[in-house]
Amino acid sequence: MKTKFGQIVEGWRNNLIPPAHLKKEIEKVSTERTSICESCKFHSKNYKSVRPDAHCVNCGCTLSAKTKCLSCECPTGKWKAEMSSEEETKLKENVKKKNSKTY
Ligand code: SF4
Repeated sequence: MKTKFGQIVEGWRNNLIPPAHLKKEIEKVSTERTSICESCKFHSKNYKSVRPDAHCVNCGCTLSAKTKCLSCECPTGKWKAEMSSEEETKLKENVKKKNSKTY
């Protein structure tokens, strides 16, 4: 199981430099999740905060990154993980193998 730190890294990586083979899936999932977060009482827009980023006041995560972490889930169960961290690792390994054969 991926640690919370690993999920934070995954979210920020997918936010800043998404893997090409997952880019469309990440955008689709993020759009759906963002829509749910926008109407959630825990969205930072409903609170006074010194943080400039849109974040979840329940878990403290920056939403632009958290919604792009495929192995993450909402702390209140409003959206689920798209894949387990094990599945994500396996997918990355398969893509890496495939790419190494191509080049
Ligand atoms: S992650 Fe979940 S609890 Fe946090 S703002 Fe989004 S829907 Fe709400």
